[in-house]
Amino acid sequence: QTPPPLPQRPRVFTVSNQKGGVGKTTTTVNIAAALARFGAKVLVIDLDPQGNASTALGIEHHGDIPSIYDVLVEGKPLVDVIQKSTEEGELYCAPSNLDLAGAELQMYGRDRREYLLRDALEQLFASPGNDYNYVFIDCPPSLGLLTINAFTCAREVLIPIQCEYYALEGLSQLLNTIEMINQGLNPYLQVSTILLTMFDSRTRLAHEVAEDVRTHFPQQVLNAVIPRAVRVSEAPSYSQTVVSYDTMSVGSISYIEAAHEIALRGAPPSHRSPAQEATH
Ligand code: ADP
Ligand code: MG
Repeated sequence: QTPPPLPQRPRVFTVSNQKGGVGKTTTTVNIAAALARFGAKVLVIDLDPQGNASTALGIEHHGDIPSIYDVLVEGKPLVDVIQKSTEEGELYCAPSNLDLAGAELQMYGRDRREYLLRDALEQLFASPGNDYNYVFIDCPPSLGLLTINAFTCAREVLIPIQCEYYALEGLSQLLNTIEMINQGLNPYLQVSTILLTMFDSRTRLAHEVAEDVRTHFPQQVLNAVIPRAVRVSEAPSYSQTVVSYDTMSVGSISYIEAAHEIALRGAPPSHRSPAQEATH
C-alpha cells in the first residue's frame, strides 16, 4: 500500500470533546503515530495536565522537565520543550505535567492570553528544521483557557465520539463554543473530522448512535471506526501507542485506517468567503 500524500502546509488539529474518557488522548497519539509511519513529521502538543499523551508516547514528563506549562506561563519557546518520541518515524511531543493544572489562572495575567499557544506555534514554524506536516493538540475535558488556546491555533477540530447514549447531547455545547470562537478569536476553525471510538458492534445502541452521528455529520465522520479492544487500553502502560505495541491488532489497524483517511481527504476547504479571507 502506498503511503498517502503529505499536506502542502501544516495541518493543525485540536482533539476535543468536553466529555472525559471518550478517547481523545488515545485518538491523538494513535493517529499521530500512524501518520508518522506514513512518513509525515508529526507534533503532539499535550494540553492535559494528566499528561497521558506524553506517557503514551514514551516521553518523560515529571516536574523538572521543560513542558508546555513553561511555554504558556513563562513564554519559553516551544522548540525548547519538544522531545522525540520513542515511536517509529518523525514523531515529537511537547509534554505536559501536573503544573499545567494551575496554568489557566496564571495565563489570565498574560497579554494575548487566548493566543499564547498560537504565537508559540508560529514561532516554531518560522524556525529552521521545524517543518511539521501535522500538529495534534490533546485537550483537557473542559472548555477553559487551555482549550481556547487550542481552538485559536487550529483550523481543524477532530472530535472522538463514544457510541453511547448521550453522545450527541454533549456535542451541542462543543459546537456552540466553536461557533463562538468563529465569531471572534478564530474564524477558520471547523469540525473537519469525527471518529467513532470504543465501538461495541454487539450492542444495538452502538449501531444506532453511529447512524445518528453519520446522519447529522455526513461529511465529517470517518468510515473507519475504532472498536473497543483490550490491546488499545493496554498499550499506554507500556509507554506505547497500540500502533507500535501490537501493530496487527484490530485497534491498531483501525487507527491506521482512520489516519489514512484523514491524510487522503486532505485539509477541508476554508469555510470563509474570499472577502472574509482577505480581512484576516
Ligand atoms: P480521554 O482522553 O477522552 O479522557 P482516553 O483516550 O484517555 O479518553 O480513553 C479513556 C480510557 O478508555 C483509557 O483508559 C483508554 O485506554 C481506554 N480506551 C480508549 N479507547 C479504547 C478502545 N478503543 N478500546 C478499549 N479501551 C479504550
Ligand atoms: Mg485525555
